[in-house]
Amino acid sequence: MAFDRVSRLASIPALVLTSVMYLMSAIPAAAVGLLRDPDIEHGLRELAFPILRAAGLNTNRVRVLLVNDDRFNAFVIDHNTIFLNYGLILKVERPDILQAVIAHEAAHIANGHISRRVANLQSAQRLAGLGTALAIAAAAAGAGEAAPGLAVGIQSSALRSFLGHTRAEEASADRSAASYLRWADISPRGLVDLHRTFSGQELLGPNQQDPYMRSHPLTRDRVRAAESYLATHGDRAPPNPNADYWFARVKGKVSAFTRAPSWTLRRAPEEQARDIRLMREAVAHHRNNNLSKARAAIDGALAIRPDDPFYYELKGQILMENRKLQGALTAYKTAVEMAPRDALILAGYGRALLAADQPKQALEILEQARARDYRNARMMRDLAMAYAKTGKNGMASMVTAERFALQGRIEDAGIHAKRAIGQLPEGSPGWQRAQDVLIASERAQKRKRR
Ligand SMILES: [Zn+2]
Repeated sequence: MAFDRVSRLASIPALVLTSVMYLMSAIPAAAVGLLRDPDIEHGLRELAFPILRAAGLNTNRVRVLLVNDDRFNAFVIDHNTIFLNYGLILKVERPDILQAVIAHEAAHIANGHISRRVANLQSAQRLAGLGTALAIAAAAAGAGEAAPGLAVGIQSSALRSFLGHTRAEEASADRSAASYLRWADISPRGLVDLHRTFSGQELLGPNQQDPYMRSHPLTRDRVRAAESYLATHGDRAPPNPNADYWFARVKGKVSAFTRAPSWTLRRAPEEQARDIRLMREAVAHHRNNNLSKARAAIDGALAIRPDDPFYYELKGQILMENRKLQGALTAYKTAVEMAPRDALILAGYGRALLAADQPKQALEILEQARARDYRNARMMRDLAMAYAKTGKNGMASMVTAERFALQGRIEDAGIHAKRAIGQLPEGSPGWQRAQDVLIASERAQKRKRR
């Protein structure tokens, strides 16, 4: 697992203009850390797939990403991404509840609740002098029903109201979510239990509520609607061992990386699937700096699932973080052979190649990773290093400029873009990308000075 700081608003441009330029014109008010892990993202994809299909969304394009935040929340800000806080994963006890969360967010996308906010964001940019965060809040509040929780703290309230949905949107998302779940043969009981989790919070002050409660305003009507849907359609979903397995694995890996290793070692034996138990123990031992136990545990998991690219990837990470470079390279290489299109696995292999002083091979692999997934700041740092080590300094500056843009550091982005433009052949694709960053950076800074 890699902790990565990427701007919370960074994914907006992917849908509007697909250029770094727009990304930077939407200067992020706050950055969120993403937890990028190929195993967890794969598990979330397994859980989300039947729902996305039922929602008529493109299952290849829509991703579920994990946010490094221990509070309960889930949100969407573009048409391609559902964000889940890791705190939500830890708190939710059953796959059908997690799938209800995903179904509800998928409904916000499918029902067009995003376009309204993109429009808000664009008008927000015209509000000068307030700071973008506050401008977004003002625009969001003025665009229709006031979003809840506007009064608490400029930065967080701005984002909250930007992310917050109206009650009408909530009701429509619930209705759609219930029908997706039914289509996908998932029990609607998860939706009822999700709502019940929050039903006590209506009376609390905004600071005591979970952020989810504020971004998805709950009314008693919503609980009642979900209950009556369950009463009408019943709970006839067949058992789903695949969902049970991936839910346990996602939750197991998230907790192994975020809770104390002692907690994981105490709880892992309760795990039903032996390979998941061993994977959790491997992470805990690794975090305790016990390489031999960590290696024995991950090898045990691999003995049970010898074709699992994600267990090889974890083995690669453990070995690499212990400077066992040859072993790490072998493990990552095997993972890449098993999952050649997984950008995070490619990024890990590229990092290992770089560490092993094979920059040419690293560059080739990291360029593949970059082509498949641009929201990985750590990979972009490695890519810049691979360019620099192979004598491509202009490209190194260009990728560094893009990385700063992704992270919302517009001034730094502009500095590196200028450097790239000075070194790359005029009109080349790299030069063009650097130009985009530079123009956006200059615009953003002009707006800031106004
Ligand atoms: Zn909602």
